Amino acid sequence: MLDVQGLKVNYGAIHAVRGVDFNVQDDEIVTLIGANGAGKSTIVHTLSGMLKAAAGTIKYGDQDLTKMSAAKIVGAGIAQVPEGRRIFAGLSTMENLKMGAYLVPRNEQSDVLANVFDQFPVLKERKNQDAATLSGGEQQMLAMGRALMAQPKLLMLDEPSMGLAPIYISKIFDIIKTINKQGVTVLLIEQNALQALQIANRGYVIANGTVQLTGTGSELLANPEVQKAYLGG
Ligand code: ATP
Repeated sequence: MLDVQGLKVNYGAIHAVRGVDFNVQDDEIVTLIGANGAGKSTIVHTLSGMLKAAAGTIKYGDQDLTKMSAAKIVGAGIAQVPEGRRIFAGLSTMENLKMGAYLVPRNEQSDVLANVFDQFPVLKERKNQDAATLSGGEQQMLAMGRALMAQPKLLMLDEPSMGLAPIYISKIFDIIKTINKQGVTVLLIEQNALQALQIANRGYVIANGTVQLTGTGSELLANPEVQKAYLGG
């Protein structure tokens, strides 16, 4: 589905991504793990068209995402849940969800919304509440629900567990598994390596803007280097 080759991304003189290769197959959950500053968010922002690649290709089916605008990339079926949620304060939960559906034909929007409410019953309960007053976990669910409103084929999540209480973290990972079972391919960026690798088919360890290691979720969980660096020994 997605094949990234030789990807390089710079911020001026800073080489944040230095030649990364990875791929995501249909229906997989693939995780990119790594420390702060490894380059994970930069990779996701480049896939979503918000940053330009300095080199490399990002093949999505037969399209090259490096040549497409952010809007075209959403239209091609790729949705991003950004780090820090980025929900719209001053708008209700419902209004935030509708923002995600701007490319979905009006007559299909209520079915899509019903599906999101099935997945996240709390969003239905809170549909008229100002999104800024939702708890952190609820805001994460809203950000995920908003991305799902676009009916993506590929969902990219940037650190969905960040800053959440353990009970919410487990819930978020369970929901990611459910979404995937319903046919959405997932690219999951996480610092919470343990839980990410437990739900992932495959993972890539990113360090200093390069891929350091790759394997199945269970191979990486069992890898002594991964255990030492990312799983607290
Ligand atoms: P985190 O988990 O902390 O978000 P990350 O793995 O997602 O880390 P990136 O945010 O992609 O890492 O950052 C990769 C490198 O690029 C870091 O060295 C960071 O300081 C640098 N960087 C990120 N954004 C910018 C920017 N807008 N301008 C300059 N440098 C940046």
